[in-house]
Amino acid sequence: MKAFILHNIGSFDNLKIKTLAIPKPGKNEVTVKVDFCGLNHLDLLIIAGKRPVSGKFPLILGSEFTGKIADPGKSQKFAIGDTVAVYPWTFCGKCPQCRSDRESICDRGGTYGRTKNGGLAEFAAVDEKNLVRIPQKLDSGKFCASVLSAITAKHMLDRIGIKNGSTVLVNGATGGVGTAAIQLLKRKKCQVICSTSKPEKEIKLKHLGADLTVNTKHMVNSLKEKFPEGIEYIVDAIGGKIWSESVQLLTKNGNMVFCATTLEENGQINIGQAFTRQINLMGSYGGYLSDLREIIKFVRTGAFNPIIDSVYPLDNTKEALLKLLNQKVFGKILIKVNGSY
Ligand SMILES: [Zn+2]
Repeated sequence: MKAFILHNIGSFDNLKIKTLAIPKPGKNEVTVKVDFCGLNHLDLLIIAGKRPVSGKFPLILGSEFTGKIADPGKSQKFAIGDTVAVYPWTFCGKCPQCRSDRESICDRGGTYGRTKNGGLAEFAAVDEKNLVRIPQKLDSGKFCASVLSAITAKHMLDRIGIKNGSTVLVNGATGGVGTAAIQLLKRKKCQVICSTSKPEKEIKLKHLGADLTVNTKHMVNSLKEKFPEGIEYIVDAIGGKIWSESVQLLTKNGNMVFCATTLEENGQINIGQAFTRQINLMGSYGGYLSDLREIIKFVRTGAFNPIIDSVYPLDNTKEALLKLLNQKVFGKILIKVNGSY
């Protein structure tokens, strides 16, 4: 089979298309014929060596994918041809976190495309407990574009319990997580403020539902002027300097949830101001299996429609990753492996 592989960390030069054997399902696994695989900032961090990998190379990248069962192995639940979405985080099913249905923070967890071979290949072997069925008649690309980023966004909003009609600042608004967060917030009738470092993307954010857009360069001053009392909720998909600046914008007893360290700098906080203003900071890692089931329901019923920036064939994955690296993206880039779009 054709696979997009990383044969060592550290450079885009280590990425190649290679022919590998079709994986046979291991214990509790099925083999999925991949339709689509979504690209994520996580892929760039893995290539750069900024996220731990399995250590076994070549590694097939791709954490977000959909496809059809090609070999059900010993599964009693799935048959050849069933269409499925793959939950990106591997989990043991036994540790205290898994027993509480918090699979993304499993004590022995990993990620497809990072600690196990992922979906940027014609076939992938996947644990059957990571599979969620999707309707056969509908385009599996839309589901694929929702698997990782939309459940991350949904999980973040659930973590801080954003109430209907709230005012919310979204940082990193133009990426997969950000565009999903905007749509989910508009469903809650929130007033959505979006920060971006790319003025040319502001119009697209407004089309998507942003009530106000602000350039990250003068975000603090501009928002302090418009919201002197502060902003009650912040959803941050960036980290670093923007994270540190955003903390200053929270109301007393305000809430910030964050899911990424995309920027190089570490986030910093003035602890004195943080406790005296009684602010609530909450980390959020991916989403749970229950979040994926719910997002799939949203996509199936049309309640959520992921923003797809572009679709590339598997052979052009490197080019697509460069587009992501150069921040030329609005929404999600999909790689079409066997699917049609
Ligand atoms: Zn576990």
